[in-house]
Amino acid sequence: MHEMSIVKRFMNIALDQLIQQGKENETVESVTLEVGEMTDLVPHYLQKYYEIASKGTPLEASKLIIEMIPMKVKCLDCGCEYNPMKTPDRLCPDCNSGNCHLLQGRDVSVSSITLRS
Ligand SMILES: [Zn+2]
Repeated sequence: MHEMSIVKRFMNIALDQLIQQGKENETVESVTLEVGEMTDLVPHYLQKYYEIASKGTPLEASKLIIEMIPMKVKCLDCGCEYNPMKTPDRLCPDCNSGNCHLLQGRDVSVSSITLRS
Protein backbone atom coordinates (compact mmCIF):
# COMPACT_ATOMS: atom_id res chain seq x y z
CA MET A 1 0.00 0.00 0.00
CA HIS A 2 2.04 2.83 -1.42
CA GLU A 3 -0.54 5.50 -0.57
CA MET A 4 -0.63 4.56 3.11
CA SER A 5 3.08 5.22 3.62
CA ILE A 6 2.82 8.53 1.74
CA VAL A 7 -0.17 9.53 3.89
CA LYS A 8 1.73 8.74 7.11
CA ARG A 9 4.74 10.69 5.91
CA PHE A 10 2.86 13.89 5.06
CA MET A 11 0.75 13.61 8.21
CA ASN A 12 3.97 13.64 10.24
CA ILE A 13 5.15 16.70 8.34
CA ALA A 14 1.83 18.47 9.05
CA LEU A 15 1.98 17.52 12.74
CA ASP A 16 5.59 18.74 12.99
CA GLN A 17 4.53 22.08 11.51
CA LEU A 18 1.76 22.41 14.09
CA ILE A 19 4.13 21.61 16.95
CA GLN A 20 6.75 24.07 15.67
CA GLN A 21 4.10 26.78 15.63
CA GLY A 22 2.87 25.76 19.10
CA LYS A 23 -0.54 24.94 17.66
CA GLU A 24 -0.75 21.23 18.35
CA ASN A 25 -3.76 21.71 20.63
CA GLU A 26 -5.82 23.62 18.08
CA THR A 27 -8.46 21.99 15.90
CA VAL A 28 -7.36 21.49 12.34
CA GLU A 29 -9.97 22.30 9.71
CA SER A 30 -8.09 21.10 6.65
CA VAL A 31 -4.72 20.10 5.27
CA THR A 32 -3.87 20.96 1.67
CA LEU A 33 -1.63 18.55 -0.15
CA GLU A 34 0.04 19.22 -3.47
CA VAL A 35 0.36 16.07 -5.53
CA GLY A 36 2.45 16.01 -8.70
CA GLU A 37 0.86 14.70 -11.86
CA MET A 38 3.77 12.28 -12.34
CA THR A 39 3.28 10.53 -9.03
CA ASP A 40 1.12 7.46 -9.40
CA LEU A 41 -0.96 8.41 -6.38
CA VAL A 42 -4.72 8.01 -6.53
CA PRO A 43 -6.51 10.88 -4.70
CA HIS A 44 -9.35 8.56 -3.70
CA TYR A 45 -6.96 6.31 -1.77
CA LEU A 46 -5.13 9.23 -0.20
CA GLN A 47 -8.48 10.44 1.16
CA LYS A 48 -9.41 7.00 2.44
CA TYR A 49 -6.09 6.37 4.19
CA TYR A 50 -5.99 9.88 5.58
CA GLU A 51 -9.28 9.21 7.31
CA ILE A 52 -7.90 5.99 8.84
CA ALA A 53 -4.43 7.27 9.73
CA SER A 54 -5.61 10.54 11.26
CA LYS A 55 -7.73 8.82 13.93
CA GLY A 56 -6.47 9.69 17.38
CA THR A 57 -4.20 12.49 16.13
CA PRO A 58 -4.82 16.28 16.08
CA LEU A 59 -5.69 15.82 12.40
CA GLU A 60 -8.68 13.61 13.14
CA ALA A 61 -11.87 14.89 11.46
CA SER A 62 -9.97 17.42 9.40
CA LYS A 63 -10.45 17.56 5.66
CA LEU A 64 -7.79 16.59 3.16
CA ILE A 65 -7.69 18.89 0.13
CA ILE A 66 -5.71 17.57 -2.80
CA GLU A 67 -4.31 19.89 -5.44
CA MET A 68 -2.89 18.22 -8.50
CA ILE A 69 0.30 19.88 -9.75
CA PRO A 70 0.83 19.57 -13.51
CA MET A 71 4.14 18.27 -14.77
CA LYS A 72 6.55 20.96 -15.97
CA VAL A 73 9.98 20.71 -17.53
CA LYS A 74 12.54 23.23 -18.76
CA CYS A 75 14.09 22.73 -22.17
CA LEU A 76 17.89 22.59 -21.85
CA ASP A 77 18.34 23.88 -25.40
CA CYS A 78 16.10 26.93 -25.54
CA GLY A 79 14.98 27.47 -21.93
CA CYS A 80 11.30 27.09 -22.71
CA GLU A 81 9.12 25.67 -19.91
CA TYR A 82 6.38 23.28 -20.94
CA ASN A 83 4.24 20.33 -19.92
CA PRO A 84 5.53 17.28 -21.81
CA MET A 85 2.27 15.43 -21.21
CA LYS A 86 0.72 17.92 -23.62
CA THR A 87 3.24 18.10 -26.46
CA PRO A 88 3.68 15.60 -29.33
CA ASP A 89 6.32 12.96 -28.46
CA ARG A 90 6.98 14.95 -25.28
CA LEU A 91 9.34 17.26 -27.18
CA CYS A 92 9.88 20.98 -26.67
CA PRO A 93 7.11 22.91 -28.48
CA ASP A 94 9.58 25.66 -29.46
CA CYS A 95 12.68 23.83 -30.71
CA ASN A 96 11.67 20.13 -30.80
CA SER A 97 14.44 19.18 -28.42
CA GLY A 98 14.06 16.24 -26.07
CA ASN A 99 16.68 17.53 -23.63
CA CYS A 100 14.88 18.74 -20.60
CA HIS A 101 15.07 19.06 -16.86
CA LEU A 102 12.12 18.26 -14.60
CA LEU A 103 10.91 21.29 -12.65
CA GLN A 104 7.78 19.99 -11.00
CA GLY A 105 5.28 17.14 -11.02
CA ARG A 106 7.04 14.41 -9.11
CA ASP A 107 6.59 15.55 -5.52
CA VAL A 108 4.03 15.39 -2.78
CA SER A 109 4.06 18.23 -0.26
CA VAL A 110 1.94 19.83 2.39
CA SER A 111 1.14 23.31 1.11
CA SER A 112 -1.04 24.59 3.95
CA ILE A 113 -2.80 23.75 7.18
CA THR A 114 -6.00 25.58 8.08
CA LEU A 115 -7.08 25.80 11.70
CA ARG A 116 -10.67 26.05 12.82
CA SER A 117 -11.15 29.45 14.37
ZN1 LIG B 1 13.38 24.03 -26.53
